[in-house]
Amino acid sequence: MTAPKKDFHVAVVGGGIAGVTLAITLHDRNIPVTLYEQAHAFGEVGAGVSFGPNAVAAMKTCHQGIFEAFEKVCTRNMWSSKQNVWFDYLDGHSMGTSTSAQNSSRQEIAFTISNSTGQTGVHRAHFLDELIRLVPEGISHFNKRLNDVTEREDGKLVLKFADGSEDVADVVIGCDGIKSRVRQLMVGEDHPSANPTYTHKYAYRGLIPMDKAIEAVGEELASNSCMHMGPGGHMLTFPVNQGKTLNIVAFHTTPDEWADYPRLTRQGTREEALRDFDGYGPNVINLLKLTDEELNVWAIFDLGEHPLSTFSKGRVCLSGDAAHATSPHHGAGAGFCLEDTAVLAALLEDDRVKTHKDLEHVLDTFDFCRRERTQWLVQSSRIVGDCYEWQAEGVGRDFQKIEEAINYRNGIIANVDINQMCEDARQQLAQRL
Ligand code: FAD
Repeated sequence: MTAPKKDFHVAVVGGGIAGVTLAITLHDRNIPVTLYEQAHAFGEVGAGVSFGPNAVAAMKTCHQGIFEAFEKVCTRNMWSSKQNVWFDYLDGHSMGTSTSAQNSSRQEIAFTISNSTGQTGVHRAHFLDELIRLVPEGISHFNKRLNDVTEREDGKLVLKFADGSEDVADVVIGCDGIKSRVRQLMVGEDHPSANPTYTHKYAYRGLIPMDKAIEAVGEELASNSCMHMGPGGHMLTFPVNQGKTLNIVAFHTTPDEWADYPRLTRQGTREEALRDFDGYGPNVINLLKLTDEELNVWAIFDLGEHPLSTFSKGRVCLSGDAAHATSPHHGAGAGFCLEDTAVLAALLEDDRVKTHKDLEHVLDTFDFCRRERTQWLVQSSRIVGDCYEWQAEGVGRDFQKIEEAINYRNGIIANVDINQMCEDARQQLAQRL
């Protein structure tokens, strides 16, 4: 075995996309790392998640195996003419040009948003299964719910878990998601940014067999990614599972509070979804009718109301949703987890980083380099979510303005050079060391 490149040990708390990719990347670069996950095993829900050009580039920068895992399970738009299409946008509220629901795919596409990778959907659980193969045995510890982090006299950080056990590390990265315990520890439990807040949107999530979806809305709309816009609700669909399944996420805006917090999901029904989308056109209604009778409803919370003033404190820092949980309207939250991993790994790997003080500089640099972009995403995601529902200020139902707003904002997300991002971070670090 190669001797570790570093004398310090990294503790990663949380085994979602942010934590697993960070553990894989650090281990690959010969940096000692342990991952602590509260659940008894790695696990993701059976829903779809898509990745844009920046996310795919970040995968390659982190570890070729992460990119290969993604390629193995990724499903693109089915039509070769739509390989660069991110979404076709439709007026989901219109009744379409056809008289028969069977022909509702004639409902016109209002505009198309494209990028260099097009739509790339993966089934979350399948992607995670592939990623786990890259996590070497022995570096993951399960049933480890972090409660507290304290500093010992010798400067080591002591992680305290709910089962009464403890472990030590030199640096702690909280990848523990939207309800992050590490965030609470950093800012204090009563601080406004300790917890996420409700965006007053929730989403029904469903997976339907592709043959049924084609029958309902026609081949073009079923086999390629679509965004059905409407007032106070929008529904996006994209193929997953190599085109055998259509992933549906149907968002509804509500003035009501989310009664189930801290639970972010609840059981809903197809009937309820159909009520929320009453008045929508045949494409939306016909697809909703194909979902299971019982549907998962996801509350959309984010950190947009009370953004963190820093992602790091001493040798503890936050990455992924723990730092910048966003609503999903840009489809970029997980992609930004990968960007975080790329930058953090580049900084921790730097040959000059040796001492505890150096590690503080690493995390301080990470905060400096990542906070503005990631917090912009949180706000921008809220804005585009409102664009899809014709309620964004100065945009309304003007499709040309909606298209311009999305193109401009998606450009900021997609048009980045991840290797340069890492290089810039290393230069920032050099100024601090
Ligand atoms: P998580 O996946 O939440 O992982 C956190 C992990 O930490 C969990 O395994 C948890 O068990 C563990 N944990 C929590 N607390 C503790 C503790 N105290 N001790 C130990 N372990 C702990 N992003 C995209 O890029 N594209 C999309 O298409 C997209 N679609 C989305 C659709 C919806 C409806 C939603 C809600 C989000 C979507 N996102 C999307 C965002 C994306 O899902 C998240 O940004 C991403 O999954 C966050 O990963 P994470 O690793 O930071 O957190």
